[in-house]
Amino acid sequence: MAQPSNQSAFTNALTQLRNAAKIAGIDPNTLKQLERHDRIVEVALPIRRTSGPNQGRVEVFTGFRAQHSNARGPYKGGIRYHQNVSLDEVKALSLWMSLKTAVANIPLGGGKGGVIVNPKTLDPAELEALSRAYTRAIAPIIGPDKDVPAPDVNTNPAIMAWIRDEYEKVTGGPAPAVITGKPVEAGGSEGRDVATSEGAYYVWEYAATRLGLKPAETRVAIIGFGNAGFYLAKRMHESGYKVVSVSDSRGAIIDMGGLDPDKVMEHKQAGGSVLGYNGLPDKTLADQLALEIELLAPAALENQINTDNADSIKAKVIIELANGPTTPEADTILDKKNVLVIPDILANAGGVTTSYFEWLQNKKSEHWTRQDVFTKLKTAMDQASSAVWKIADDKKVSLRKAAGVVAVQRLAEAIKGRV
Ligand code: NAD
Repeated sequence: MAQPSNQSAFTNALTQLRNAAKIAGIDPNTLKQLERHDRIVEVALPIRRTSGPNQGRVEVFTGFRAQHSNARGPYKGGIRYHQNVSLDEVKALSLWMSLKTAVANIPLGGGKGGVIVNPKTLDPAELEALSRAYTRAIAPIIGPDKDVPAPDVNTNPAIMAWIRDEYEKVTGGPAPAVITGKPVEAGGSEGRDVATSEGAYYVWEYAATRLGLKPAETRVAIIGFGNAGFYLAKRMHESGYKVVSVSDSRGAIIDMGGLDPDKVMEHKQAGGSVLGYNGLPDKTLADQLALEIELLAPAALENQINTDNADSIKAKVIIELANGPTTPEADTILDKKNVLVIPDILANAGGVTTSYFEWLQNKKSEHWTRQDVFTKLKTAMDQASSAVWKIADDKKVSLRKAAGVVAVQRLAEAIKGRV
C-alpha cells in the first residue's frame, strides 16, 4: 500500500489555523500564541529486549509529548506508537486536539504523544516495558488536572491500563483520571471503544439529513480498518449502508455488492490483513479513491489524500475519521470538484468527547450506562455540527474553515488577557 506523502503535518495544521483565524478576524497577538506550543518534550526510553535478534540487549526508543494549549482546560490527546512518529507529527496532532476540544466545546485543551516504534516488532512483555518507561518519562508533566493522554494509532485499552498503573506507582496514589480509553474494569467508560466512530456516525447523520442522502443509496469506502475504521464500517453496515471497500496497511478489498465488517475482521484477525477476504483480489488506495461512491472515510494516517490523488476522487462526501488525512492543497482541489469534506476536528471529535465523559466519571466516582454515554455524545455532536454548519452557511466557507472558525473563536476567548 502506498505510504502517505511526507509533507509536514504541522505546516498543514498551521495553514488551517491561519485560514480560520483570518476568516474569524482573530487578532495577530492571539494567533501568535496559537501558532506555538506551550511545551514539547522528547524522552529517551531504554528497555531490555526479551525477544528477537537483540535479546538481552538494551534498546533505547524515542518518545515525545507535545502540549499545545491548556487555555480551555488540561491538555488532552492520544499516544501513538508508530515507526513514522516524529516531532512534526505530534506537534500537528496536538494543535488539532486544541481545535477539536474547542469545536466539541469540552473544557479540555490540546496535547499529543508518540513513540517511534513499530509495535509489531515487540513481544507483549516488551510492549508493556516500553509503555511503562514512557509513562515514567512523562509522569512529571501529565496528571488528571494537567495533561490526560488516551489511545491513538497502535495503542489500546490494555496499554492505557499499564499507563494508569505506572503513573500511580510513580505518584503514590489512585489517579484513574490521568488517562482515558482504559478498559471498563480499570475505570474506563462504557462506549469509549466505539466512541470515535459513533460520534462520526452522528456527525454523518446530521450531514446526510442536510444533503438528503439515505442509507440504501449511500455506498461507503473506508481507508484503515483499526479502531476508528472497523467500528465505523460496522455501524454503517448495521444502519443499512453498503460498505463496499475497506483497507489496512497492506492494501484494500472492494466488493460493490457490500462487505460484512464483522466477517472481514474475523479474516483479518486470523491472517493479519483484510487482503484475501472471500477470495477478493488485492486492491490499492488508488483503486479505493477511484470508486463511484457517495462516502469516503479515511481512518488511517495523515496526508493520504494529497495533490497526487485528490483529482481522482469520485466520492461526493469525505468524512475524516483520521487526523489530517487531507492536505490543504488537496482541499482546494476537492473544493473545486464540489466534494464536501467533513473535517477531522468535527468528524472524529466523538473520541475525545467520550474521553471527557470518562475523565468526568473518574473524577466524580460515577459509572454511566452505555445509553447515557451515547445520549450525551449525540447531544454534543449535534451541537458541534450545528455550530459548524451555521458558520459554513453564514460565511459561505467550507466545513473545514467553519470548524476552524468555531475553534479559534472559542480559543481566542479563553486566552484573552493572557500575555
Ligand atoms: P488503529 O491503530 O486502531 O488503526 C489504524 C488502521 O490504519 C489499521 O487498520 C492499519 O492497518 C491502517 N493503516 C495503517 N497504514 C495504512 C495505510 N497506509 N493505508 C491504509 N490503512 C493503513 O488506529 P485508530 O485509533 O483507528 O486511528 C486511526 C486514525 O483515527 C488516526 O488518524 C487517529 O489519530 C484517528 N483518531 C482515532 C481516535 C481513537 O479514539 N482511536 C480518535 C480520533 C481520531
